[in-house]
Amino acid sequence: MITGATRVAALIGSPVRHSLSPAMHNAGFQSLGLDWVYTAFHVHEGDAQRALDAMRVLGLGGMSVTMPHKQAVAEAVDLLDPAAAALHSVNTVVPHTDGRLLGHNTDGDGFVASLAAAGVQVVGRSFGIVGAGGAARAIVDAVARAGAAQVVVVNRTAERAHEAAALAGACGRVGSVADLGSVEVVVNATSVGMGSQELPFDPRVLRRDQVVADIVYHPRRTALLAEAAVVGAATVDGLGMLVHQAALQQRLWTGRDPDIAAMAQAAERELAARRQ
Ligand code: NAP
Repeated sequence: MITGATRVAALIGSPVRHSLSPAMHNAGFQSLGLDWVYTAFHVHEGDAQRALDAMRVLGLGGMSVTMPHKQAVAEAVDLLDPAAAALHSVNTVVPHTDGRLLGHNTDGDGFVASLAAAGVQVVGRSFGIVGAGGAARAIVDAVARAGAAQVVVVNRTAERAHEAAALAGACGRVGSVADLGSVEVVVNATSVGMGSQELPFDPRVLRRDQVVADIVYHPRRTALLAEAAVVGAATVDGLGMLVHQAALQQRLWTGRDPDIAAMAQAAERELAARRQ
């Protein structure tokens, strides 16, 4: 029951209509028994500052940020956490009691949490990250901070690969598809395979003793994960990252950990409804 006491959290972005976040977050708040509700606002490019002003005026309890506002919000908030500062990208805004807005980025830590939930440890392991966009950069930064031994970035555009690899410091370097055969964990962090059966690279480089993660979550079993399973590699799909980055947002807003399974089920229901 929504009342005058209900706290509101919201996503800003353009577009937001098909976002899975409202379903996931409302399931999370419900699992905690909190009187919170989560909705989505279509905010046009260039209006991020005004959306943050509205957050203050309306007293929103939390904000999620998606395309095209992540950089603009990083510039407009009062403080950044280390990940948001390194990436110059904010996906979560937390209001503090003193009126300041704090910018966080939970994408990379959400990915690391999804690996942990799948029983994959990061410390001391070698990673091959395919892609160098916003999500790939967040993952490079997070696995390096979480103790990865080596992070090899493979991307179509070399300049962006170098920028992403630099986020991993001394353990980062740029590589080629051939290098993916010699790392322990391979991650597709490109948009290739989203809503299609396309492969981001030739899967013949994969080996059975590897872990292959794909951050694309629609379809959940991507063509890459299907090929990895044929080889005998362990696979991790992209829904886990999506759910864990959202759960980390709820922890930042409420100080509590929502039910991951309930959030995942809500996201799956939304995805299933889209397939019909
Ligand atoms: P982005 O910033 O636009 O980056 C896209 C990346 O994909 C770039 O590295 C780009 O390479 C590469 N790419 C695109 N088309 C390609 C092609 N045809 N061949 C080779 N490389 C190609 O996007 P993003 O925000 O990082 O998101 C990437 C994907 O991850 C999206 O599908 C998104 O939905 C998904 N995602 C999932 C989660 C999750 O929680 N599971 C979170 C965030 C994002 P260039 O640099 O050469 O252009």
